[in-house]
Amino acid sequence: MDKYSVLKQYFGHGAFRPGQEQLVDGVLAGRDVLGVMPTGGGKSLCYQVPALLLPGTALVVSPLISLMQDQVAALRGAGVAAAFLNSSLTSEQFIDTCREIRRGAYRLIYVAPERLENEYFASMAQGLEISLVAVDEAHCVSQWGQDFRPSYLKIAEFIGKLPKRPPVAAFTATATARVREDIAQLLGLRDPVSVVTGFDRANLFFEVRRPKQKLPAVSALVQERRGKSGIIYCATRAKVEQVCAALIEEGVSATRYHAGLSEEERTGNQNDFQFDRCPVMVATNAFGMGIDKSNVSFVIHYNMPKNLESYYQEAGRAGRDGEAAECILLYSAGDVVTAKMLLERSNEREKGFDTLEQDLRLLDAMVGYCKTTNCLRGYLLDYFGQGHGERCENCGNCRSLYVELNITRQAQMILSCIKRVKDLLGYYVGPALIIQVLRGSKNQRIRELGLERLSTYGILPEAREKVQSYIECLEAGGYVYVEKEHSTLRPTREAGQVLFHGQEVMMMARAQCEVPSAPPTRERKRLETSVQVLDGEQSGLLDRLKAARNKLAQEENVPAYIVFSNATLADMAAKSPRSLEAFLEVSGVGRVKASKYGKYFLDVIEEYYGDRGR
Ligand code: ADP
Repeated sequence: MDKYSVLKQYFGHGAFRPGQEQLVDGVLAGRDVLGVMPTGGGKSLCYQVPALLLPGTALVVSPLISLMQDQVAALRGAGVAAAFLNSSLTSEQFIDTCREIRRGAYRLIYVAPERLENEYFASMAQGLEISLVAVDEAHCVSQWGQDFRPSYLKIAEFIGKLPKRPPVAAFTATATARVREDIAQLLGLRDPVSVVTGFDRANLFFEVRRPKQKLPAVSALVQERRGKSGIIYCATRAKVEQVCAALIEEGVSATRYHAGLSEEERTGNQNDFQFDRCPVMVATNAFGMGIDKSNVSFVIHYNMPKNLESYYQEAGRAGRDGEAAECILLYSAGDVVTAKMLLERSNEREKGFDTLEQDLRLLDAMVGYCKTTNCLRGYLLDYFGQGHGERCENCGNCRSLYVELNITRQAQMILSCIKRVKDLLGYYVGPALIIQVLRGSKNQRIRELGLERLSTYGILPEAREKVQSYIECLEAGGYVYVEKEHSTLRPTREAGQVLFHGQEVMMMARAQCEVPSAPPTRERKRLETSVQVLDGEQSGLLDRLKAARNKLAQEENVPAYIVFSNATLADMAAKSPRSLEAFLEVSGVGRVKASKYGKYFLDVIEEYYGDRGR
């Protein structure tokens, strides 16, 4: 069998994705490799295909139990003999698995890095024919990465003790050069074939929003996406609790994950999410690495993360199946304060070495993302050092029209209104009252205070939100400030420049977002090459296929995407195969899965078209 037949027969894919083939070829030629690909890029295949072609057993070092279990379940589903060794096994299962490993029964075995330090395991490994050592999430070896795991530093030593050094294949989604260098050096890679693929994830829609109140905003976003699976990341455990409780109150099937919960509850909640019993997960960044759920269709950040690496990795958990998905960040100025506080704390206590200055620089870049009015995808790709077009047409900024408005006249009206109200009353008032005066409100308080007599009364009869946004712009520009104790709006010295010295005030305004809050539309889907566009009839079939798949997954007690991913079902709906042969043409359908599930899904298709008389 060659690599193409392995790809087709076991994994059901007709072609390698960019970068995959080079890495597969590297390993097959006995070379070390380093693959840097974004989450969802398809790193697993790069070692799984060689593992099926080379004699012996591939050893896969993977940092998380849930990740191993998922990978092994998926491989077994595809007809590949694979196993994991970790603490979730009973001692009986452990002994059985070791016996089978010694017998050379598996093509791949998954272990946590700590296992390599175990003497029993190390001596067993020395008696095996090891085809390759794959190191998943290889950035864990670097202290510059976010998930440093000391036992990764021992991997090189373990490999050094093997009687014959197999090729070593390292994979990560972390792009920075420093981390890459660390990986090559600390894992002891020898002249590796390095492949860094594009970081763009065309199927992801990026957006930054600045809601006045986040809780109602997040709940509206989730309600609009009912029936879809999503993750909501919050900066603190307390926020996770608050957001999760609010969503549950509104009838959303949400669950939560953070380091303050017992191990048992964390595992239970994670399973509820993986199996779609609770499609919405509210979590801190403790939830993540190793989440291999491919049908996550939105990731909302309730708070801004501490750097763009974290953001891209967390947001990238959306749309791993290649379907259109959304990454929405809810930004407020308070997030910067929280992020700084968390960084200071972690530098003091957790890391044991000081990188605060560097951390703050990374934070600045993150804040820049939240504030830019240019293409958001472009901003991310710039950061990761990849070229791109000027506009992606698939982010919140490209889809909104930003215009630069000269609001000097309005600014002068607002500033003089603040001054006149103060002159008349002898004290400053809050922004709400100033807005009422400017808009010529007829309410009782205005009359009682005699404010309708002012020359600035009613001179700015625009929508309340608009006047509010002018005031925010003046605040951002340092012309006014809100005094803390009484929440009154006051001018700064700079205000004089605008009132008396011709200083102009400009405001970037989002003129109109074409898709203000809509989930991905058909039109948007068409922008992405990897996404199927289905007609009405095919969409109806897709719904039936999904229902059938979910039922099957429930019966087999596996997560739905282990049976077939959404992308595979979409391709199935588009191709509507009517024979087993045609069924094999569907992307993601390998031989074993076809023989296992083919008839079941073909019946669903047959019945669907039968109902339509075709
Ligand atoms: P990563 O580990 O890089 O995050 P995965 O290995 O989990 O990504 O792959 C992500 C998804 O891409 C999976 O659903 C997988 O089936 C799909 N995939 C990988 N390689 C290919 C390919 N060559 N053709 C089509 N789909 C692929």
